[in-house]
Amino acid sequence: MPPETSPAACDLILSGGTILTLDDADTVFADGAIAVRRRDIVAIGPRETVEAAWTAARRVDCTGRLLMPGLVNVHNHTPLMITRGMIEDIGFAPMFTPGIPQGHRLSEEEASLLARLGVYEMLRNGCTTLVDFYRYPQALARAHAELGSRAVIAGRVHDADPEELTRRRYVYNPGLARETIAENADLIAAFDGFDAGRIRCDWAPHAPDTCSDACLREVAELARWHGGNIHTHLCQSGIEVEQVHARSGRTPPQALEDAGLLDPRLIAAHCIHIDPEDYVRLGAAGIALAYTPIGNAKTGRIAPVLDLAESGVAVTLCTDTFSGDLFEAMRWAVAMQRVKRDGQSVLDARTALRWATQAGAERLGLGDKIGALTAGRRADILIMDTDAPGLAPVIDGYGILVWSANGGHVRSVIVDGRMVIEDGRLTTADGPALVREAQKVAERLWTTAGRNPVSRRVGA
Ligand SMILES: [Zn+2]
Repeated sequence: MPPETSPAACDLILSGGTILTLDDADTVFADGAIAVRRRDIVAIGPRETVEAAWTAARRVDCTGRLLMPGLVNVHNHTPLMITRGMIEDIGFAPMFTPGIPQGHRLSEEEASLLARLGVYEMLRNGCTTLVDFYRYPQALARAHAELGSRAVIAGRVHDADPEELTRRRYVYNPGLARETIAENADLIAAFDGFDAGRIRCDWAPHAPDTCSDACLREVAELARWHGGNIHTHLCQSGIEVEQVHARSGRTPPQALEDAGLLDPRLIAAHCIHIDPEDYVRLGAAGIALAYTPIGNAKTGRIAPVLDLAESGVAVTLCTDTFSGDLFEAMRWAVAMQRVKRDGQSVLDARTALRWATQAGAERLGLGDKIGALTAGRRADILIMDTDAPGLAPVIDGYGILVWSANGGHVRSVIVDGRMVIEDGRLTTADGPALVREAQKVAERLWTTAGRNPVSRRVGA
C-alpha cells in the first residue's frame, strides 16, 4: 500500500458538474472538479480524484452545471457603449457618423463611466478576456482593474481629424498623432503588467485611412520595441479603401505592409472590403482576423472569413461593442459563413467555440495561460446555468452552447481565480449602479447631440 498523503491546500474547489475543458483532446469530465490555488488551476479531473487530493478554503457545489473556459473577445471599445441601440440604424461606424456623441468629445470621467458599463456587460456575458482600445485608455484600464476582467488595453492612435471625418473629409494633423501616441506611452508606463499580468497594454493604430503613412510607420516602430500585439481596423469600409488608394495608389493591406505592420502580431477587425489578391498577402503575413459577424451584418456585409482562413489568416472572434454577448456572435459567425458559401461551409459549433476561446488566447500570446481548462493555466472559468430552459438538452455539449445559449445563461464567472460574477451578481462593484450611471451619461450626451431620450419625454 502506498503511504497515505494528506490533501494539499487550495483556495477554491468547483465540485461536480460537466466540465468541457476545450483542450486539444476535447477532454470532458462528466462528474468533474477543478481545484484553484491563487490565480491558477492546480488540478482538474474526476470529482473523487480531485477532492481526495485537495482541500479548499471554499467549495462551490456545481452539481448539474456545465463548466467551460471563459470567452476571449478580441476587439472592443467599451466607451462606445454610448452609441449602442442607435448607431445600428444611423451610420456604419461612430467615427464617421454625424449627429452622435463622438469619442473625442467625451470627458475622461464620461469615458470611465461608459467603460465600466461595457466591462460589466461583457463579464456578465462570460467574456473573461477583453481587448479594449479607445481614447482615455487609462480610464479603460482602471475599469478592467477594478471590475476584475483580464484585459489587453490600448489607446486609439490616429492623426486624421475626427471632426472632419464626420464630414467624410480626411485632414491629417501631426499634433493628433503626437497626442494619441503619448497617451498610449503613458498607458503602458502606468498599467502594462498590472496585477501579475492580468492587465497588459498594446498598440492600436485605428485604421489605414485614419492614420497617415507616417503615423503608421511610427506606431510600427514603437510596437516593435514594445512587443505584444497590434490591434487595428482593416478594410472596414469602401471609404477606407478609396482614401488609401487616393493617398498612395495602394490597398489598405499594402499600406500596412509598407509601414511594417503586417505580421503575426497584427489582429485586424473586419476585413470586409478586401481585394482577393490581398487574401494571400494577409495569409502569408500570418495575421489574425478579429471576426465581427454581427457588426458586419448590420452594415449589410459578410467578411470572406473562409477565404482568408484558407489563405492562412487565423480567425478570432469579437463583438466590437455592439452587444457584448459572444455566444450570440458564435452563432452568427457560423450562420453568416453558411450564407456566404451558399450552405457549403464546413464550419460547426466546435469551430466557433475554438475561435471564441483557444484561438483568441493563442493570438494574444496567452495560449498556454487561458482558452482551455487544464492544470497550470489561469483559472478563467464559466459556470453555466443549466436550470435555464434554453440550455437543454446538453448532448455533445458544444452544439447547445453555440446554437442556443446566450450570455444570460452564464451563472458565475471566475477570472484569475477570483469569482467576479456570482449567481449573476457582480462581486467587484455595484452592478446596477454602474448601469444607472452610464444611462445618465448617455442621456446627457445624446441630448447634447440633439436627441430626446425616451425617459425624458412627457406624454405622447
Ligand atoms: Zn472596432
